Amino acid sequence: MAVCIKSQIQNLNLVIGCTIGCTYCYARSNVRRFRMIEDFEKPEYFPRKLRLMEKARPQIFLLTGMSDFSGWRQEWRDEVFAKMADNPQHQYLFLTKRPEEITFSIDLDNAWFGVTVTSSREKRRIAALREHLRGGHYHVTFEPMFDDIGEVDLRGIEWIVIGTETGRRKGKFVSKPEWVWNLTDQAHALGIPVFWKEDLLPILGQAQMIQELPRAFCRVLEEQAKWRK
Ligand code: SF4
Repeated sequence: MAVCIKSQIQNLNLVIGCTIGCTYCYARSNVRRFRMIEDFEKPEYFPRKLRLMEKARPQIFLLTGMSDFSGWRQEWRDEVFAKMADNPQHQYLFLTKRPEEITFSIDLDNAWFGVTVTSSREKRRIAALREHLRGGHYHVTFEPMFDDIGEVDLRGIEWIVIGTETGRRKGKFVSKPEWVWNLTDQAHALGIPVFWKEDLLPILGQAQMIQELPRAFCRVLEEQAKWRK
């Protein structure tokens, strides 16, 4: 049975707001609808939420569900990285569409830095990720896919996520099965786990669904299961 990625990875929106301006952004719509912050184009930091990272029960957190990591100020990053170092029981995911605007090096084994690639023109982001963000682990999210991404250089990447556009946007793109398989096959040839988001279910069918996780994430989920017993 296909699982919803949100049942495994929790959003922890320490920063809300983003200047990138994607047309398909669900975060901007939600922020405006629920008036979470004054202006989505002016990211705000919510340090009080850091205490959620103190929970002993391990979790996999996505810290950029309503922001882009390139929009985080240096002082926010420093504070969050320090908190991550103090709470190694969790795994932490970050995503950006502008890796070339961030340069740093950290020594945290539970940090996962990733880029979003939505078309073949954006593949250069993967090389920029390796070049500019040093330390931790790398992942790539191909979502939503607007064309066939083609051949990708996945060296050093430890997880890929693939998804199609969701929501009700007029002119919404639907990923083609061959685009999904192309990326999946390339990742599998390198032994990289692949996660198809549940939105691909109507396109690819239950029997084919692939939802693999890195070993570190599997360990977190196994630990979580023990807490429920
Ligand atoms: S990068 Fe993410 S948060 Fe920013 S506008 Fe695009 S979809 Fe929204």
